[in-house]
Amino acid sequence: MVVKFLDLKAVNLQYKDEIEQKLLEVFSSGWYIHGSEVENFENNLAKYINVNAAIGVANGLDALRLIFKSYIQMGVMKPGDEVIVPANTFIASILAISDNLLTPVFVEPDINTYNIDISKIEEKITGKTRAIMIVHLYGRTVFSNDLLALAKKYNLKIIEDNAQAIGANWQDKKTGSLANAAAFSFYPGKNLGALGDGGAVTTNDDELAKRLRAIANYGSSKKYVNDVMGVNSRLDEIQAAVLNIKLRYLENENERRRDVAAYYINHIKNKKIILPQMPQNKQEHVWHLFVVRCEQRNELQKHLEQCGIQTLIHYPIPPHKQKAYTQYNHLQLPITEQIHREVLSLPISSVITGEEMKQVTDALNLF
Ligand SMILES: *Cc1c(COP(=O)(O)O)cnc(C)c1O
Repeated sequence: MVVKFLDLKAVNLQYKDEIEQKLLEVFSSGWYIHGSEVENFENNLAKYINVNAAIGVANGLDALRLIFKSYIQMGVMKPGDEVIVPANTFIASILAISDNLLTPVFVEPDINTYNIDISKIEEKITGKTRAIMIVHLYGRTVFSNDLLALAKKYNLKIIEDNAQAIGANWQDKKTGSLANAAAFSFYPGKNLGALGDGGAVTTNDDELAKRLRAIANYGSSKKYVNDVMGVNSRLDEIQAAVLNIKLRYLENENERRRDVAAYYINHIKNKKIILPQMPQNKQEHVWHLFVVRCEQRNELQKHLEQCGIQTLIHYPIPPHKQKAYTQYNHLQLPITEQIHREVLSLPISSVITGEEMKQVTDALNLF
């Protein structure tokens, strides 16, 4: 039997009846953009994250892009300013910065958490720095009082890329409520996935919320009246309807992922394989991905494939080594580069079976 990396069909089949009924309802309503489903979802998400405002947008990249675009229109930052960002992240984090003509300044991750090394941020702050973007990579929260103090000392915004960590905590707060603004992705494979693209921004800053909401809708708060130059980036009623249903099960799904992660950590015993660390507070990880490291990563991937186990690499090429960013290709970020050489993501989801988990573990222990 093949163990799929992620059986999305099975994930969504868990909620088949509810979703089918709701989709028919939206279909029959005749109202498909900016209606009650989106309004409900924005309220539900804001309540779940415990923030003043949530704004639905078209996808996670747009959520990030629009946060920066709003800050630029508000005069908080301007093209040419610098944004500190982890060097080890999905390309969207960097694209959102460069798309706004801001300059990403890469900071190395902590080899134990794969998240930005907060102790290495201050040395990268210059007179042009306006923000720090943190990415809760693989579903693991990154935050600290030191980070907050740093932002205060240098008057910087902190922006959370929460695309991989919806539902995770820092102390008793949810990621997405820790800083000035946060971006969410509802790409189907994310922990809260739609049946297509979707995204959201959360914030406690009412001015930012108002500005961003207008920009996402052609720059207008009143139909055909354009106060600022905006874009079209909207969450639609069908996706919001699905998300309203799935949000109610998110805590269960994340708990199930924690069980799978604990099983792997307890049962994979192979000196060649470095396991991810369970944070002391289990609520600080929602295990969007279960990422191991191995010096012979490519051989390990081949071995697992022969054992019928699908794996993926998140990510094979770091942003600063991509062709799209030749201006940064000369940078040397050895920890980031080592991570990209060595990581491999194992199957993890809310629907993986005990048998499948055992098959994965046995194959890893045989390597
Ligand atoms: C998925 C993801 C995004 C982008 O989300 P989309 O909805 O695909 O645009 C941004 N950042 C990170 C870390 C992601 O994993």
